[in-house]
Amino acid sequence: MKIQAYAAHGPSMPLEPFEYEPQPPELPPVQVEIAISHCGICHSDLHLLANDWGFTQYPLVPGHEIVGTVTRLGSAVKSFREGQRVGVGWEAGSCGECFYCLRGDENLCSNWRGTCTHGYGGYASAIRVDGRFVFSIPESLDSERAAPLLCGGTTVYSPLAQVVRPAMHVGVVGLGGLGHLAVQYAHAFGCEVTAFSTSPDKEAEARRLGAHHFINTREAGAVEKAASTFDFIISTVSADLNWGDYLNAVRPKGKLCIVGAPPSDVRLPTFPLILGNRSVFGSPIGSPSTIREMLEFSARNGILPMTERFPMARVNEAVDRLRSNQARYRIVLVN
Ligand code: NAP
Ligand code: ZN
Repeated sequence: MKIQAYAAHGPSMPLEPFEYEPQPPELPPVQVEIAISHCGICHSDLHLLANDWGFTQYPLVPGHEIVGTVTRLGSAVKSFREGQRVGVGWEAGSCGECFYCLRGDENLCSNWRGTCTHGYGGYASAIRVDGRFVFSIPESLDSERAAPLLCGGTTVYSPLAQVVRPAMHVGVVGLGGLGHLAVQYAHAFGCEVTAFSTSPDKEAEARRLGAHHFINTREAGAVEKAASTFDFIISTVSADLNWGDYLNAVRPKGKLCIVGAPPSDVRLPTFPLILGNRSVFGSPIGSPSTIREMLEFSARNGILPMTERFPMARVNEAVDRLRSNQARYRIVLVN
């Protein structure tokens, strides 16, 4: 079987049609073969395309917000059937034996395998993935709007579900693919929600998605004014920020969670951390069990991304649109 895909052959090169034969040719017993119908474009795909993280292997077929249908099952996979609608996110494998895998934190396994970092990803006609990292898509979620939940949705759902309680005041920094979902989850959890954005034209949408307040971070002093306001702030921004302002915006005992990947290391002032007993932590995607929970929660509460659809063949145009922060709010490639 040959898979038709789009690949980049070097840093910041355009994606070009690319064909490959999956290896090994026989479907391994633990894998599921999926015909891809939809694949979201996450900003992590842009980081990989540009080799921002220094580990991109070319040719790179990006794509890790995949929805499609099962075409074949390895002999050991019992949990799916042919024709079933399924999804795949960032993680495609883990050792299955370490402390973290055994307790259900497979996303913390040091031998994790990425869908598009350790193999060819979802900007393609098909993919083969270890069945432990394949998820059934709830019937009420349409495929285009389910795809971005597999990475973007789970990445913000996971820390929010671990930390926030109703009535907390939650700040969401950056209203992109991840951020516009974080606003919806925080609202659904019963929180008071503030959106921090560089794009004032997103205010009406942010409020419609569940934000009670909107802070235009381009206004001088806007973030400083919010000092000691928030129980929890999640940053989804892929750029360097003045982190001290965001740490100060967190109340004593509050938490700042960083899921966006800025180019520079995060520098923080020490005394607001110590005196306010504040904490800062990061969070990688979500475990398989968190992904299943997130899909169920999203389906039950009608939490869906706003999407723009592009045919797979127009992938370069779609990538440029995300790169220039024009996407509202997640672009999904469709086969
Ligand atoms: P995205 O759709 O491009 O959204 C990022 C948002 O950040 C933009 O929409 C923009 O929102 C804001 N922003 C962009 N440039 C900015 C700047 N210079 N200063 C301040 N704000 C800026 O990206 P995404 O797909 O949501 O991903 C966001 C980040 O999360 C990426 O770095 C990605 O790699 C990372 N990520 C991490 C994980 C994880 O497991 N931790 C998983 C997925 C993605 P406004 O217009 O509202 O300002
Ligand atoms: Zn992603």
